Amino acid sequence: MSNEACIIADPVEMLDTLREFSFIRDYNLAVFSASELIAKRGDRTRMCGLFGESWLCVDSCHKTYIDETTRAAENCRSRIFRCATGLLNFVIPFKDLQQKDCLLLGGGVREKFVDLEHLENFIREHRLNGIYFLEEWERLPCVTRLDVQKVVDNIYNIMPLLGRDNYYVRAYERTIDLINTVSDLGPEIDRASSVDLVLELLSETLTILFNVPRIAILYPQGKKRQLVLKGILGLDNGAIRLGPQRSSELLRHQHHRILVLRGEKLKKLFPYLETDHLTCLPLVVDGRLIGFLSLFDTELATRDLMIIELLAGRVADKLVRLRRRQNREEESNRSKKLVGMISRLAQLENSQHFYQGVVEMAAELCDAGKGSLMLFDDSQKKLVITASLGLNKQLARNLKLQRGQGIAGQVAATGSPILVHDINQDKRFIQEKRPRFETHSFISLPFCCEGKIVGVLNLSDKQDRSAFTVADMKVLEQFLEHAGGLVKRADTLERASLLEKLSWNDALTGLHNRRFLDQRLEEELNRSSRQKQEFSVLMLDLDHFKLYNDRCGHIAGDKALKKLGQMLRRSAREMDTVARYGGEEFCILLPETGSEPARLAAERIRHSIERESFYQEDYLPGGRLTVSIGLASYPHDGDSAEALLDAADRALYKAKEKGRNQVQVFDAAIGREKIVFI
Ligand code: GH3
Ligand code: MG
Ligand code: MG
Repeated sequence: MSNEACIIADPVEMLDTLREFSFIRDYNLAVFSASELIAKRGDRTRMCGLFGESWLCVDSCHKTYIDETTRAAENCRSRIFRCATGLLNFVIPFKDLQQKDCLLLGGGVREKFVDLEHLENFIREHRLNGIYFLEEWERLPCVTRLDVQKVVDNIYNIMPLLGRDNYYVRAYERTIDLINTVSDLGPEIDRASSVDLVLELLSETLTILFNVPRIAILYPQGKKRQLVLKGILGLDNGAIRLGPQRSSELLRHQHHRILVLRGEKLKKLFPYLETDHLTCLPLVVDGRLIGFLSLFDTELATRDLMIIELLAGRVADKLVRLRRRQNREEESNRSKKLVGMISRLAQLENSQHFYQGVVEMAAELCDAGKGSLMLFDDSQKKLVITASLGLNKQLARNLKLQRGQGIAGQVAATGSPILVHDINQDKRFIQEKRPRFETHSFISLPFCCEGKIVGVLNLSDKQDRSAFTVADMKVLEQFLEHAGGLVKRADTLERASLLEKLSWNDALTGLHNRRFLDQRLEEELNRSSRQKQEFSVLMLDLDHFKLYNDRCGHIAGDKALKKLGQMLRRSAREMDTVARYGGEEFCILLPETGSEPARLAAERIRHSIERESFYQEDYLPGGRLTVSIGLASYPHDGDSAEALLDAADRALYKAKEKGRNQVQVFDAAIGREKIVFI
């Protein structure tokens, strides 16, 4: 037996240092002073009554402890003993730094050679569930008495080395090592590109360096900031809501640096998690709590907690930065989506399609399953559903509201949007329970045109069943502002297209329309063939006009088309026919003009457009609004209207293919090419 000189050590530091040695990994360790538990480490078995918390901590077991520890203390010598359950234990007396008597107890291992008779008697005597008992028993690390003696000897050998000074030096060195490891990790955390990666790094570090078996993040969610538990190691990673009461219980302590929960309090908070220890570190950035790092099952030394705090601070910072980046990306995606939607809306010429588009796009923007657009009827007295999504059309048609009546009526009367998180809890609308909605959150916004409220947009039933947010409201307001600006246009276009069908002119540019051009072309073919004369056709298409619309808006696009129409009319001769062929394509018929003079005329037109300045054209590639022109001549390139227009069109595509902003004369080679749409 080794020299059993009396050891002097700080109990907690001693336990933490001993835990680092592998020979003692399998043991539960505890330090008592005057039969009071000072600290414990290890939790490998719940069978051991060492900590006074085991379901097996039977009276006789307790008595063995008292007898053995008293004898060890009296003789100031270590003892190895078997408790009533049959587990092996050791006790080593020592003194703390204030010279108070203390006892180091080790246990929680079983003897290799099982005395089955003893076990059976024990089970019977204490009326235990035999199967359950033996299963637990099997799981215990098994050793011999000699092994335990070696552990005790080792502790005595190590203790002098851990004498006061050495001991602090060791603890200090370990701490420095840990701090270095954790700060080396900093750049890696900074580089992580997603929340999952950051949490993975965090949990890896906590298991490797501090042996934490179960980790979770508790974070506040929603307006009421209720806590949600999300496991990141050793726990189910689905989100579990804590509910208002349990959340506020924890949130009360958010200003503490570290929160340790045990016993009944812990059971009440997490009844479904079998655990006897939880350490929570608030994750705070710029004074705002973003969550709690929650470490289960392990009691951590104070200096380890300080290092984990360092790590948690870094992780919290990174999480906030990642969240900000995600918000920025979402915002930019949303605004790209918004521009695309407005551009699509602007192309809808029929007002019913336009209003339907408004509802569908608004719903898409915030992921709503149902929606309606209510507009005032002609008498301006009642709101009627003009377009809807996910509603019964018959019902929708019959629903009419007075100004001020119902939620939509209120929005129309006040011009302020209404956002409801939960209709059942919202005191403003106690009377307004609306069973036709599946979820309890909805949003209603005023729809304005030229500063006047013309209707209300209602949305409900988010696809993921969550509540509408202020961010949703903001993006919808933006969308409706643009859409409102297009209402007049949709109405005008609808009327214009009706009129256009009956007339020869295009409503936007005032130029001739296609119907007129077709007729003129036939006349010109007849005349030219009779008089054996040439004539030419120019087909013009604006370059990158879609981009121009997207960047400068459709209203600016319309203005540019109008201006272009005037320029073309001015540059043509009296006898020429200038027509809007469709969208942003124009066609000019040049009677009595052969290919070469027509090319010169086309070049002049192209050049004058390139020189002319258009609103915000610097957004375009090359910084100028330009046209590409295709040219075909009678009779050389075709002797029917169809053939000539087709040839001019092919030449136009060739001009586009060659880089735009140029004139292309049709030739036989182009005729043989397949049309490639660019
Ligand atoms: P490219 O150089 O290849 O011709 O590119 P592009 O963007 O001009 O492509 P394309 O000819 O396919 O696009 C035509 C665009 O013109 C689509 C539409 O946004 C726009 N457009 C068509 N008619 C109108 C209109 O009446 N008003 C406005 N503002 N834009 C129109
Ligand atoms: Mg085009
Ligand atoms: Mg174009």
